[in-house]
Amino acid sequence: MNGEKEVLFQVKNLKTYFPVKEGLLKKVTGNVKAVDGVSFEVYRGETLGVVGESGCGKSTMGKTVMRLLNPTDGEILYRMGGEMKDVAKFNKKELFDFRKEVQMVFQDPYSALNPSKKIGEAFEEPLKIHGIKDQKKRQEIMDRVIQMVNLRKEYLLRYPHEFSGGQRQRLCIARALEVNPSVLICDEPVSALDVSIQAQVLNLMKKIQHELKLTYIFIAHDLSVVQYMSDRIAVMYLGEIVELADSKSLYREPLHPYTKALLSAIPVPVINSGKKRIVIEGDVPSPINKPQGCPFHTRCPQCMQQCKTEKPVLLDRKGEGHFAACHLYSREEIL
Ligand code: SF4
Repeated sequence: MNGEKEVLFQVKNLKTYFPVKEGLLKKVTGNVKAVDGVSFEVYRGETLGVVGESGCGKSTMGKTVMRLLNPTDGEILYRMGGEMKDVAKFNKKELFDFRKEVQMVFQDPYSALNPSKKIGEAFEEPLKIHGIKDQKKRQEIMDRVIQMVNLRKEYLLRYPHEFSGGQRQRLCIARALEVNPSVLICDEPVSALDVSIQAQVLNLMKKIQHELKLTYIFIAHDLSVVQYMSDRIAVMYLGEIVELADSKSLYREPLHPYTKALLSAIPVPVINSGKKRIVIEGDVPSPINKPQGCPFHTRCPQCMQQCKTEKPVLLDRKGEGHFAACHLYSREEIL
């Protein structure tokens, strides 16, 4: 417990690398360091937003926490049966129970539903897998979850192609809710939808979270969407968390130069707002060949000599849970 908050996930130094193989003999010549030493906690009932440019490792991180990908190193501790247990070491049975508690909502609602199966069939499958043998009981659950996402229970008899993108994503959310999860890991759940539909789905997700007391890990590249949904936000760059803070202080007073640049790019609906955009020069370096020192130093407008050789540590820079990995904030400033 942290004050009043109960830690549900504790991720420590998580790494997910993909080997690069070359030549006829498929010799491993390097690694794509998609997630490279990430540590964070998730508290029960909160939404932790994870934001960053495409390719920063946020989706890989979500899939690794869900154990859809195996971690290369590190720990993913999850509170199960009152104890913190390492998901990375779960056996088949433990993984099965874990996947009942932690469900995932994917970005693409079009490929998440089998086009040849009626919605009812797609909904019934996970219930059978999780041992609900009574057909009447399964029907009750399916009717309840589909109505929870504001769709009619008659829709269970239809095929996926009969629905719009927003409706399909609501169906995917409903299916994830069937097994009574505690956590939803949402990977870009609205980015494939029209802007007009996004707000509807986000509001629905907030309502469901409140009603069912769910915990969300909400992954997205859109900072406005993440701000709307999240209590705390982790900013990722090149497989690492560079800033982690509660949503209000991150948006009011960002510390890391990368976060500042990202926030300056959010459009403001005011003419002549005086807001200046910070343009980051250059491309994101390759995750196969990461720069030494600070991963952001090749593009940082405030780069110092120290940044090129010494890796900054993610530290609480103000003593109030606002973490940043940047040499601009010295240890003395924290104390
Ligand atoms: Fe920029 Fe240096 Fe801070 Fe990295 S450590 S973000 S290079 S100032």
